[in-house]
Amino acid sequence: MLAYRIGYGEDAHRLEAGRDLWLGGLKIPDALHGAVAHSDGDAVLHALADALLSGLALGDIGQYFPDNDPANAGLDSATILRRCLELVRGRGYAPLNVALVVTLDRPKLGGLRPDIAASVAELLTLDRAEVGVSFKTSEGLATGHVQVRATVLLGRADG
Ligand SMILES: [Zn+2]
Repeated sequence: MLAYRIGYGEDAHRLEAGRDLWLGGLKIPDALHGAVAHSDGDAVLHALADALLSGLALGDIGQYFPDNDPANAGLDSATILRRCLELVRGRGYAPLNVALVVTLDRPKLGGLRPDIAASVAELLTLDRAEVGVSFKTSEGLATGHVQVRATVLLGRADG
C-alpha cells in the first residue's frame, strides 16, 4: 500500500436568485443567488467528497448518492462528506491536507476564508492550517455558477 495518495475532485452548480448559497458547510451571508441542486448544493463539500473517493480509486459521489434516489433529496452535504471520510478511514487512510479553489464572481468571499477553512477543517478533523482556500472570479465568463476544485493528500493512518 502506498504511504500517500492524491485525490482530486471538481464540482459546479448553477446559481439562481432566492436560494441559499452553501460553501464548505457554511451558509454564505448576503448571497443573492444560491446553488440549484438536488441536495443543498454545497460545491466545496461535493468536490472534497469526490477528492476523498478518487484518492483511493473508490469512484465518485454519484455512485454512492445518486441524485435520482429520493432518499438523497435535500441530503446535507456534510453527511455525504462524513460518509466518504468513513470509507477512506475504512481503507486505512486519513486526509493530511486539503487545497480548495473556489471560482465565484459574487459575492466576494475573501473575508470568509478563515470561516470556510475552519468549517472544512472541523468536518475532516484537520487543523485549520491544513485547509488552503483560494478564491477566483470567472472574469465574467461564468457569472451564473459556482465552481470548486479540491485536492486532498491522503496518508496511511498507521504512519
Ligand atoms: Zn454538487
